[in-house]
Amino acid sequence: MMRQKAVVIGGGYGGLSCAALLARDGWDVTLLEKNDSLGGRARSWETEGFTFDLGPSWYLMPEVFDRFFSLFQADRKDYYSLLPLEPYYKVFFSRDDVSLLSTDREKNIKLFESFEPGGGEALKRYMDQASYKYRVAMDEFLYRDYKHLTDFFNRRLMVEGMKLGVFKKLDKFVSTYFQDRRARQILEYAMVFLGTSPVDAPALYSIMSHVDLELGVYFPEKGMAGVAQGLAKLCREQGVNLVTNAEVTHIKVEAGKAKAVETVQGEFPADVVVSGADYQHVESSLLDDHAQSFSPGYWESRVVAPSMFITYLGIGRELKGLEHHNLYFEEDWTNHFDTIFKQPAWPDNPCFYLSCISKTDKSSAPKGMENIFLLVPVAPGLDDSDEVRDRYFDHVMSHVKNITGEDLTKDVKVKRIFSQRDFIGDYHAFMGTALGLSHTLRQTAVFRPSNRSKRVENLFFTGQYTHPGVGVPMVLIASEITAKEISAAYGP
Ligand SMILES: Cc1cc2nc3c(=O)[nH]c(=O)nc-3n(C[C@H](O)[C@H](O)[C@H](O)COP(=O)(O)OP(=O)(O)OC[C@H]3O[C@@H](n4cnc5c(N)ncnc54)[C@H](O)[C@@H]3O)c2cc1C
Repeated sequence: MMRQKAVVIGGGYGGLSCAALLARDGWDVTLLEKNDSLGGRARSWETEGFTFDLGPSWYLMPEVFDRFFSLFQADRKDYYSLLPLEPYYKVFFSRDDVSLLSTDREKNIKLFESFEPGGGEALKRYMDQASYKYRVAMDEFLYRDYKHLTDFFNRRLMVEGMKLGVFKKLDKFVSTYFQDRRARQILEYAMVFLGTSPVDAPALYSIMSHVDLELGVYFPEKGMAGVAQGLAKLCREQGVNLVTNAEVTHIKVEAGKAKAVETVQGEFPADVVVSGADYQHVESSLLDDHAQSFSPGYWESRVVAPSMFITYLGIGRELKGLEHHNLYFEEDWTNHFDTIFKQPAWPDNPCFYLSCISKTDKSSAPKGMENIFLLVPVAPGLDDSDEVRDRYFDHVMSHVKNITGEDLTKDVKVKRIFSQRDFIGDYHAFMGTALGLSHTLRQTAVFRPSNRSKRVENLFFTGQYTHPGVGVPMVLIASEITAKEISAAYGP
């Protein structure tokens, strides 16, 4: 018997995970990726003995990955292994004020007590509420599909939500526990992972502190790109046909149904289409006007998540002052957030994230050398000419030297900058965003773009634009929700 055909657009975590699930459910699945390798924002780049993770580098919420593999009666350990990190990360508050965050709760409690009297006790209380919220979110919120307002504003969520203060703003919520800016920044910085600022994020996302401080930060063998390769292996085992260099140019729709997907390699007939590519690109560029669920005005009115100024450096010596993960928080970081969300500009004294994975993974750099990934979150849509890039690179390098004491302009073996125009060129990202849509309350759950088209009945979406949102674990959850809905609606 001919099996029904599912065509998946995009070979990032969203596309790969949904393709594997649909194949498991009996669909004949073809995945089409425009680039020459899989992984999407989580690809790797190898050059001169260095292997860089181009995108994500924090393996968070391990239980989500384990659950995903268990959906195939598979064991995650057969696809990649994990190393726990200790310390989790190093935070520079200034050149002379540095803290290490640990896997050991007691050490973190001592650290918070050193920030302000009572800080240790406050951390215990804060972490307890974050752990409780995390459990409620996992059981009630993240794995659910939201189609109508009433799905979100249901009685249980409203009662729990009010009790837990999830609808307050995170920054205000944290300040009811802590006065010290360092304590507050450690508990709020992860909002950048969600593409928003702590001033606008709902306090629901205090769960992120449970995620990083209690569930632990791990390093996957071969980095996050290695995890994506593990998903690609799972796809092959399930029989998915993975096609690279296959840019999709049009989704053919007749009488409200997607019939085929047109690519630079020809046409692929489809009974169902799933997109893991950037939602705005698919809606605005791959569908004819009559088939689009959202107008250009809708996209213009969204709070778009930050873009990033990323520098990959291969340094020909050891850097003693750095850990695997390093963060810098400016004393008044509202300056930096304002340049992202209020008055778009290249920030002067930016907060940054700097990873040096060669501290853990010796194969990521030649012996005695270091592998550096430096990330500054910036507003989407900034001028990103060669001239601007070069000037900003020099500025950021002297800033990093002032803060960390490490001069990253010496012994440079490899250098590459990746920013706005690369996000557009490589992924068709809306305004060059790295992360899609911000997680403000109005862009959470039922308020995110739906995982099913309103105009094309057999067109579905997964990936970071949909619920539950940004981040690799969230995208795996999105695919589980979407694949379940497809198989429930259409069999096979
Ligand atoms: C620099 C960076 C750091 C990050 N750090 C972390 C982290 O540490 N931990 C974490 O959990 N998350 C992190 N994230 C977020 C996480 O990487 C993303 O949320 C997730 O990878 C998004 O997956 P996706 O499948 O939705 O999108 P993508 O990975 O972008 O996949 C979409 C795919 O669609 C393809 N595509 C687009 N248009 C077409 C077309 N017309 N035809 C065919 N294919 C097309 C693209 O090439 C791409 O491969 C980070 C993101 C970035 C950019």
